Amino acid sequence: MSQSLVEHLSHYPELAAEAAHWQHPFAPNALAGKTILVTGAGDGLGAATAKTYASFGATVILLGRTRSKLEAVNDWISANTGQQPVIVPCDLESLDAATADTLAESISDAFGTLDGIVHHASRLGPRGPLAHYPADEWQRVMQINVNSVFLLNHALFNLLDASPRACVIHTSSSVGRTGRAYWGAYAASKFALEGLSQVLADETEVAGRIKVFSVNPGGTRTAMRKQAYPLEDPKTLPTPEAHMELYLLLQTPISSDGAAVEFVTGQQLDCRDWQGRIQQL
Ligand code: NDP
Repeated sequence: MSQSLVEHLSHYPELAAEAAHWQHPFAPNALAGKTILVTGAGDGLGAATAKTYASFGATVILLGRTRSKLEAVNDWISANTGQQPVIVPCDLESLDAATADTLAESISDAFGTLDGIVHHASRLGPRGPLAHYPADEWQRVMQINVNSVFLLNHALFNLLDASPRACVIHTSSSVGRTGRAYWGAYAASKFALEGLSQVLADETEVAGRIKVFSVNPGGTRTAMRKQAYPLEDPKTLPTPEAHMELYLLLQTPISSDGAAVEFVTGQQLDCRDWQGRIQQL
């Protein structure tokens, strides 16, 4: 990758270190003019996605549960990128259609359209056999990981459709593609998310303005991973920034020689081996 891109990212050393190995020569302003909603933006992959997109010129809408975390990401973006994000403190456990519609109205008033949503917010829930899985936790995980995604996509659809090219990314998981014992509602919710992603992709494919993907980051150095595998050494895992080339590419697709390309919508991508899987039109 060109030295100039690494220099452009000098305010974000964790990303600059990854960008040194990127295959795609993104322009520093690759996302200029785009407005993108990132859920779970206060931590982990969501915070990295928001900081990355803002570093390439996007206006990011930061949705998450903990206001102080959103404010920290907001302050970092303002100080380092020149972009001014919008923060939306929101507990997705209590999101309903009316609240999602209110958010859509606010985004419409402020921006007119929406160019992307990245759904990162998620609840791991308890680990254990389904026979003993707490019913209230099942509902909570399904509400946060699936129902709220439907409600946001539903409320924001017209704003996405008004963009010349919009992209919806559903962050999934390995256990959302192959079931595994003791992953309970989390696994079932990610299977549902994959289904939602495929249905939305199929419904929007002909019009072609909205691209829809599911992305499995694989084991990544975040709080959720620590919760799932408390004895694992986090240093053995990739950082969230290691996955940002793919999250960037889906929003602004270019080939490795810099030409504009487009991806087949509806793909299930895996951060660890994505390069072989993206089919170019
Ligand atoms: P983190 O725990 O770092 O981040 C999860 C985010 O979701 C936090 O910002 C959290 O907000 C937010 N969130 C949780 N509950 C709610 C809620 N009720 N309302 C609003 N926001 C909420 O996890 P990751 O960054 O690892 O996870 C990002 C995505 O990646 C998830 O979809 C996860 O399933 C997926 N994933 C992660 C893997 C990994 O190894 N890390 C592997 C496979 C998939 P707050 O901090 O304020 O609670």
